[in-house]
Amino acid sequence: MIYLDHGATTPVDEAVLQEMLPYFTKEYGNASTIYSLGQSAKKAIHTARKNLAEMIGSEINEIYFTAGGSEADNWALQASARAFREKGRHIITTRIEHHAVLNTCKALEREGYDVTYLPVDAQGVVSPTAVQQAIRPDTILVSVMAANNEIGTVEDIAAIGAICKEHRILFHTDAVQAFGKIPLNVEEMHIDLLSVSGHKIYGPKGIGFLYIRNLTGIGPLLYGGSQERNRRAGTENVPGIVGLGAAAVRAAEHMQEEAAREEALRSRLLERILKEIPDCRVNGFATIREGENGPCRSLPGTLNVSFPGIEAESALIMLDMAGICAAGGSACTTGALEPSHVLSAIGRSEGEAKGSLRFSLGKENTPEEMDRVAEELKRIVERLRSIRI
Ligand SMILES: *Cc1c(COP(=O)(O)O)cnc(C)c1O
Repeated sequence: MIYLDHGATTPVDEAVLQEMLPYFTKEYGNASTIYSLGQSAKKAIHTARKNLAEMIGSEINEIYFTAGGSEADNWALQASARAFREKGRHIITTRIEHHAVLNTCKALEREGYDVTYLPVDAQGVVSPTAVQQAIRPDTILVSVMAANNEIGTVEDIAAIGAICKEHRILFHTDAVQAFGKIPLNVEEMHIDLLSVSGHKIYGPKGIGFLYIRNLTGIGPLLYGGSQERNRRAGTENVPGIVGLGAAAVRAAEHMQEEAAREEALRSRLLERILKEIPDCRVNGFATIREGENGPCRSLPGTLNVSFPGIEAESALIMLDMAGICAAGGSACTTGALEPSHVLSAIGRSEGEAKGSLRFSLGKENTPEEMDRVAEELKRIVERLRSIRI
């Protein structure tokens, strides 16, 4: 099998699993207890928190564990809205956010908040100037994702953060796709809230964290016990937290070399697709950097291509029969018939959007696999296009 859907989820790294295992069985203590079994769990949570804080340049006590990226996004938006409703009810976000952000915004609109959904350019870039121009006296929060899950575009988070700081408006970024793949620093980028998920970086599913800058005044999303310094109730998911911490440490250790490796695989696949399959189009940036050592404009391992004249669903079934896992649009919208909101936002027609495939690469992929995928794709696209005539 060739797995090219790391944007949807990743396998748990074997070494990460080994670090987690004792916390299911021998070290099962509740971290809130005073006997040593509980203290050992507490210590493990502290180590994970410390490593995660180090990775984003935050204080240790600014990391709050959640049940994943969606919860972190919900918390950031809902709690900000609630905390600042007396100051104003205007939120700025973009048209290309993950549904965890977009649908939370929709829910807030029903509660009387006003949301501006900023457009993006043809590559999916949010203009920092557009963010600045959208700010009103009643704006309380800006939420712009660090990297897009469907097309891989990396946003200018530092510039947007600086604008928010200047206007004293909270800045949230959904960094679920970016964390562990590109450098992130909450101080340099002026980020107040940042969402992360474990299962996109070879950690377990159902665990993530929200970074909350100290003194922001954000309250809890979930009420109950005093875990996570009274801000996120519920007995800690100790194995999950240990797994998230271990996965993050590994990602940080190999970030540069793995980015370079995936970038090379991505261009190998793209070059062959463009050369061998007529009439197709990259969604997002064709190359991930501007210049030799320029900043990343795209995630190194995410490639989204439109093949007009085919239906992504049929191509995915045929790819699956050939042992290849890929995605059409984003996994969360599979099953829904509407074309991807991200592809519409970058100006793709309905036909182009419906014939789009996402290949998201990971650490176990090889150059030979890219060649196999290109060959199978060529065959499948030709076949599907000939059937349609
Ligand atoms: C996967 C993903 C999420 C959701 O994270 P879960 O841990 O699956 O809830 C949120 N935002 C982005 C950009 C994602 O890719």
